[in-house]
Amino acid sequence: MSENKKTGLDAMAGDGGYQEAYLADVIRFKMKRDNKRFWAGDNINEYILDDKMKNQLIDEATEAFETVLDRLLIDRENDPNSKGTARRLAKMYFNEIMAGRYEPGPDCTAFPNDSEDRYEGMLVVRSELRSMCSHHHQHVSGVAYIGIIAAEKLIGLSKYTRIAQWCARRGTLQEELCNDIAREIQKATNSQNVAVYIQATHGCCENRGIMAHSSLTQTTVLTGSFKTDPGAKKEFFDNIKLQQEFAPR
Ligand SMILES: [Zn+2]
Repeated sequence: MSENKKTGLDAMAGDGGYQEAYLADVIRFKMKRDNKRFWAGDNINEYILDDKMKNQLIDEATEAFETVLDRLLIDRENDPNSKGTARRLAKMYFNEIMAGRYEPGPDCTAFPNDSEDRYEGMLVVRSELRSMCSHHHQHVSGVAYIGIIAAEKLIGLSKYTRIAQWCARRGTLQEELCNDIAREIQKATNSQNVAVYIQATHGCCENRGIMAHSSLTQTTVLTGSFKTDPGAKKEFFDNIKLQQEFAPR
């Protein structure tokens, strides 16, 4: 462990004498110094420079999850199913359920849409989402419908879903997630006319609290003409209805 710590901290050389600190503490210190927000739904990729650093953060989180299991009085030494659980949890957080915090955004090459036969209509893309609520770290699963009115740039269709998933793979609230996806789609397409509608089920309502298994939450963000033009708004929701009728659920 201590050897690993030193290797990862080499990357921080010249940034203060933190040789004995956890890398996570060093990074947290730097983010505070930079006034960089690091809430559960924020991307902090610029502070994790390479896989070596990420692996060290996983080692440190493994150690912390071991402590959590010990405090929960789970016998991780003799229970064969709990032996590797701390590491599995640490890897799952960094590489899967919160990967959108630690990885850079998808590379979205934009194609020009400014010729004579440019597309001026509406585009509605359905994207499967898997997320996690930042309150209880329970799964959120559902679908986002992303609508845009084509501007002078277009991105590949799969990129809408990649952006949505990158935003979702964090600790979020559905309301925040809806805003995040709309903002990132605006950035990638340069379109001021973006709409996002999400419907999702929440593990924190299904597995605890009110134990409501069929609860469904809907959120909508409308910008530009989706907000100001009732016709555009109606077309967006009509498209969603058509997709729900014909697309696999
Ligand atoms: Zn929750």
